[in-house]
Amino acid sequence: MTPPSLVGGSEVVANRLFGSRKVHLAVAMINPGKEARMLQQVQEKYEESQLYKIRHSAAHIMAQAVLEMFPDAKYTIGPPIENGFYYDFDLPRNLTPEDLEQIEKRMRQIVQGKHEFQKKVISADEAREVFKDQPYKIELIDGLEKGGLDEYGNPLKEKPEISIYQHDTFTDLCRGPHVQNTKEVKQDAFKLMSIAGAYWRGDENNKMLQRIYGTAWENAQQLKDYLWQMEEAKKRDHRKLGKELEIFMFDDEVGPGLPLWLPNGGVMIEELEKLAKEMEEKAGYLRVKTPHLTKEDLFIRSGHLPYYAESMYPPMELEGVKYYVKPMNCPLHHKIFGSKGRSYRDLPIRLAEYGTCYRYEKSGELFGLMRVRSMQMNDAHIYVSEDQFEQEFLGVVDMYLSYFKLFGFSKYVMRLSLHGKAGLGKKYVGNERLWIKTEDMVRRAMINGGVPYVEAEDEAAFYGPKIDVQVWSSIGREFSLATNQVDFAVPERFDLKFTNKEGNEEVPLCIHRAPLGTHERMVGFLIEHYAGNFPVWLSPEQVRVIPITDGQNEYANRIVQQLRENGIRAHADISAQRMNAKIRQAQLMKVPYMLVLGENEMKAEQVSLRVRDGSQQNNILLSDFIARAKDRIARRAPEL
Ligand SMILES: [Zn+2]
Ligand SMILES: [Zn+2]
Repeated sequence: MTPPSLVGGSEVVANRLFGSRKVHLAVAMINPGKEARMLQQVQEKYEESQLYKIRHSAAHIMAQAVLEMFPDAKYTIGPPIENGFYYDFDLPRNLTPEDLEQIEKRMRQIVQGKHEFQKKVISADEAREVFKDQPYKIELIDGLEKGGLDEYGNPLKEKPEISIYQHDTFTDLCRGPHVQNTKEVKQDAFKLMSIAGAYWRGDENNKMLQRIYGTAWENAQQLKDYLWQMEEAKKRDHRKLGKELEIFMFDDEVGPGLPLWLPNGGVMIEELEKLAKEMEEKAGYLRVKTPHLTKEDLFIRSGHLPYYAESMYPPMELEGVKYYVKPMNCPLHHKIFGSKGRSYRDLPIRLAEYGTCYRYEKSGELFGLMRVRSMQMNDAHIYVSEDQFEQEFLGVVDMYLSYFKLFGFSKYVMRLSLHGKAGLGKKYVGNERLWIKTEDMVRRAMINGGVPYVEAEDEAAFYGPKIDVQVWSSIGREFSLATNQVDFAVPERFDLKFTNKEGNEEVPLCIHRAPLGTHERMVGFLIEHYAGNFPVWLSPEQVRVIPITDGQNEYANRIVQQLRENGIRAHADISAQRMNAKIRQAQLMKVPYMLVLGENEMKAEQVSLRVRDGSQQNNILLSDFIARAKDRIARRAPEL
């Protein structure tokens, strides 16, 4: 199936995992590699986007249709969400799929009516009059009047004004924004997706309501693309494929969020690590290894405690000392940097480790390999002087781009997260001058290097600006893969220094980088990206040797041995199954190459090759096949 235009630059709502605030990015297709041009990127808040208005308006239109169907319905809240909207209702009976069809049909009529959305600011008493038959709305109005909560029950700083929005026969307690009229919600660009139960205000002591989910887009093509993407994502779900392809598993007795890598997954992460090590060695990194456990003092010094405590596993106490499992590798690398005197001539010093970290994620937030509690990170810390910063930083960016090219990520964006003035001294290290200086350095490096990026205020790390790297899989789904941080504060806390040209002591800057993210997230992403059809170098099993009868079993074993001696991962299927079943089995496991051996092949000391893409070559010399496979593996080629 050919993917539709999705990957070509449609608008995408930032992934929930990508940041605390929803950001709407208009992103164009970017060519990976050095020739990448700085693109004019528009960053718009989702709440202010046309899509948000369309979805919010669609929620109102849906509520109108539901109220017409159930005049006694009590309606609660209906906000836009990522990719769509929902509305929660208290209804006299359970909704059926047929109801959804009816509601959708009625919505199409309503939108064609071109009804204006009209806003009116009213007093709390007037609002109570308008919604006198709607107890949930009354509760919301009371909340608005008291202040502190908005109409969705989210905390609010100032006391809000109370407003209603009206279109056709429907009125909602609402602060907007909406489209001008219902016709801006295109009749062929929305769809009702599902019905679910939801407690009023998310509290299980409250009544269970019925929630209708819908999706809405600017035009029919966008809707079509989205539905295709959802369908494809289901087929490529890394949890499903990860099980079928025997890549990883979870076990109750081991614990949630703690993946076990099966032999096939073991091969994949070894290959990724090999790749990282090759790249890092070429770029002058030094490898270190640090323990999983450290004393509490280290994390107090680094500032992780107490601020980061809720993401850490609780401490264990031994001989009166508290120990933590590490949520990050940085403090340990800082210790290594600080272990001896450093001169400007030694810098940059790049310390790399595929370090295993442990973070406490809430059970409800765990998600396959994407959100886990133990993770192996492609970590490194680079200590640089200020004048080395730009070159080094661009070196890191280059490494990212090489990886993207290798994996065929044709669309990505880098997001530079800046500090927020209000958070200085609280959320952020309280040195504004250093913030501005460091942010400028990063910005200049990105522009000079021609790296496409967008900026986001008030999203930085505690100790410096960060760059989040967001990539799109081959089906156009977006993932936050890696983070890059510039740290101007923690090296000082660790008393790190080097002697500069003038013979004075200076504190280095530290770049934290992890281009391949964690094994967990990377493999999860790659499963979706390739739909399990990994390139040869990354395939857990590269060759399946299939003897047609028992008579060729010995020949098969001999071939496997030869392949293994050539560094090719091969396995012979000498089960009692028929050839077709063996072929089917290898196809299910998405093995790139099958070598089929019959009487003739054995006599001629040849093999017949079946490639995963469907092509075949009969009676070829084993040495020719080995040359082909070795070439693909050595180049980490995408082709088979
Ligand atoms: Zn509304
Ligand atoms: Zn770090």
